[in-house]
Amino acid sequence: MGIIRLMDEPLSNKISAGEVVERPTSVVKELVENAIDAGSTAIEVLLVEAGLTSIQIIDNGEGMDADDALLSFSRHATSKIANEHDLFRIRTLGFRGEALASIASVSKVTLHTSNGASGTFVKMEGGRLTEQRAGSLRKGTDIKIDQLFFNTPARLKYMKTLQTELGHTIDLLNRFALSYPGIAFKLMHDGRVILQTSGSGEIKRVLADIYGVAIAKKMIPFEGQSHDYKVSGYASLPEITRANKNYISLFVNGRWVKHYAIANTVHKAYHTFLPLERQPIVVLNIEGDPYLTDVNVHPSKQQIRLSKEKELMELIHETIRRTISSVARAPIIDKPK
Ligand code: ADP
Ligand code: MG
Repeated sequence: MGIIRLMDEPLSNKISAGEVVERPTSVVKELVENAIDAGSTAIEVLLVEAGLTSIQIIDNGEGMDADDALLSFSRHATSKIANEHDLFRIRTLGFRGEALASIASVSKVTLHTSNGASGTFVKMEGGRLTEQRAGSLRKGTDIKIDQLFFNTPARLKYMKTLQTELGHTIDLLNRFALSYPGIAFKLMHDGRVILQTSGSGEIKRVLADIYGVAIAKKMIPFEGQSHDYKVSGYASLPEITRANKNYISLFVNGRWVKHYAIANTVHKAYHTFLPLERQPIVVLNIEGDPYLTDVNVHPSKQQIRLSKEKELMELIHETIRRTISSVARAPIIDKPK
């Protein structure tokens, strides 16, 4: 007789959770993405001890019915793609159908959700259902993650200080707010408000909420278009500089991405306007046919592969450089030493 057997679902979920749920910030990211995909206009994130004790996300999106509320915790269960064709036309932030399954396998979850017609309450522990009943009819979803990594002690031990974990989550929420200025975000930590945006739809107001009014006043709007891509956003005047590229926020079709070459192109667009080692503050929204963008590179969906990259880089460089040249005083020339 063979010795191979199929793992049960909680076990296989726990294994893939290693990639999807690296730290509290990854949980916040997946849950906020779900809230955005559900069409929410207001999203609240409540953390206790940087999320290690609890993470709660309350949205006013479309909610789920009772069947979906249970199914949502199964691996590969998603309402966002149905076939291979859809995989190349992704317009939602989620599509892998594994976040809730992974998160639930390494924590204790309570979920209240309602689509307006019915309300459902579900409780899970370590990936297993422990309670299910009818619940409130408030439309939207309220999901709480308690004791993250309670059953994976090695991962728990690996967490950095609470301050470091919190810093990552604040950074993440700032990017969501910049990318979705039409959504009112509120981030609370241990009962204190850390970030609150109005949801007015103006990026400039979000810039003021995050970086302060004085900085926001020195951010210039830009816009450009090529055959396949559209870029828009805000770029700081050369008098504002930062020590690193962390202030260059890149979004591709609404998704915050990390892309070294694009960030570098943004920096190059400022060449001779900024001292070489300094960086600007930039919000860059890139829009293109989802067909041109491959986000299926890593479970965290933060890396992206782009087609027609050269065309895009030229567009970014040209658009930002034109904008900065039109408002800046004479370029600073870096004299060779
Ligand atoms: P994915 O987002 O990749 O589809 P998830 O595991 O994150 O996978 O979620 C599974 C499904 O649960 C989603 O496709 C969606 O239908 C539903 N869901 C999750 N969170 C919410 C929410 N906040 N509001 C409405 N539906 C949700
Ligand atoms: Mg998701």
